[in-house]
Amino acid sequence: MSEVIGVVGAGTMGNGIAQVVARAGYCVVMRDVKDEFLERGLVAIDKSLQRDVEKERLAADEKDVIRGRIQATTSLEPLREASIVIEAVTENLEVKTEIFKTLDQITPPETILASNTSSISITKLGAATNRADKVIGMHFMNPVPVMKLVEVIRGIATSDDTYQKVGALTEKLGKTALDCQDSPGFVSNRVLMPMINEAIFTLYEGVATRESIDGIMKLGMNHPMGPLTLADFIGLDVCLAIMNVMHEGFGDPKYRPCPLLRRYVDAGWLGRKTGRGFYEY
Ligand code: NAD
Repeated sequence: MSEVIGVVGAGTMGNGIAQVVARAGYCVVMRDVKDEFLERGLVAIDKSLQRDVEKERLAADEKDVIRGRIQATTSLEPLREASIVIEAVTENLEVKTEIFKTLDQITPPETILASNTSSISITKLGAATNRADKVIGMHFMNPVPVMKLVEVIRGIATSDDTYQKVGALTEKLGKTALDCQDSPGFVSNRVLMPMINEAIFTLYEGVATRESIDGIMKLGMNHPMGPLTLADFIGLDVCLAIMNVMHEGFGDPKYRPCPLLRRYVDAGWLGRKTGRGFYEY
């Protein structure tokens, strides 16, 4: 039997990761807390694979083989078989800490526990386990099947062996691993989020319209998407959570979230996923 890889969370990132891992030939155990969340994840995987069949990037029978490698479950039990578990649940320290504690109890001691967190400390997650040397960040980008980067984050205790194994897995998934040390926002969000936050400030202060702000960054800087459109795509709650982690983590006022971002999140205007953010969908 092929090696088993666990994915915890079947949301946007979890189902994308499960798909990519299954495509690389691994058996996947995808775990979520409710059947309806698993169902939604599987539908997203089916749609994405079907698109590739239609575009002749994937044979129809191959699609079935890939789907057959994914076991969707609400049970923790099948995760015992996994050599690596990739956690992709809601960005919340308490929720993730609880999962790492549980995974530490149920998986064999050699299993690597990776987190897809955008901003939570890998060192903190490692400290919740008795195997901090085997805890690492595997930060996939959205949409997972398309984006080539995996930002690999080493906690203070992450071993070289864990880092090398995760680097080798990333390569097998057809992605590029670039590493960094554990620090608030890592590299990707530390550079990206202040730019998005600043774009929101320019809107807040009436410096320009949303269309102008996005257009200036697209046409002037060759960004494929303007920062406000990108914020809507990522989710404004996620953007706010990351800004808060950096603000608290560095204690530097330059990371203060724009009041307009807070106000939109308070209103439940979270971007594409709720039909309204800086734009209407
Ligand atoms: P999401 O809300 O789409 O999915 C989260 C899923 O986790 C939900 O289906 C939820 O039911 C499930 N979940 C919650 N508690 C669980 C538990 N105990 N066991 C199993 N499943 C559980 O969120 P997402 O956008 O997929 O984000 C997941 C992670 O990926 C977060 O840490 C986020 O910061 C990170 N991330 C997100 C993006 C992005 O663009 N969305 C990009 C990179 C990284």
